[in-house]
Amino acid sequence: MNIDIQKHKDALEVELKRLETEILEVAEKSSDTTWEAKQTEDQDTADREEVANSIETYESNASVTSDLEREIIDIRDALTKIESGNYGVCEVCQAEIEEERLIAYPGARTCESHM
Ligand SMILES: [Zn+2]
Repeated sequence: MNIDIQKHKDALEVELKRLETEILEVAEKSSDTTWEAKQTEDQDTADREEVANSIETYESNASVTSDLEREIIDIRDALTKIESGNYGVCEVCQAEIEEERLIAYPGARTCESHM
């Protein structure tokens, strides 16, 4: 492998921090690897429009949460792979993942042909 591991490791750590901060805007941590989308505050409001809005907010929080959660898990797995020396290897064909792909998405698990 000829990629600069330290550079990727730094990028992964920065990205992990960013994602962990971002997810707290829409969710609360429920365990080490799971987050629960935030409910909006006034659940008992009588205003039907507000109820509809708060359901919409919750649904959008939930969808953002699951995307971010997946990315966080990818990044953590990538950091584990760096430790075990197999970072940047496609999980499908075991080929090296294209460097541009790792730069665009450091948590990538597969090469471009197996996305
Ligand atoms: Zn592949």
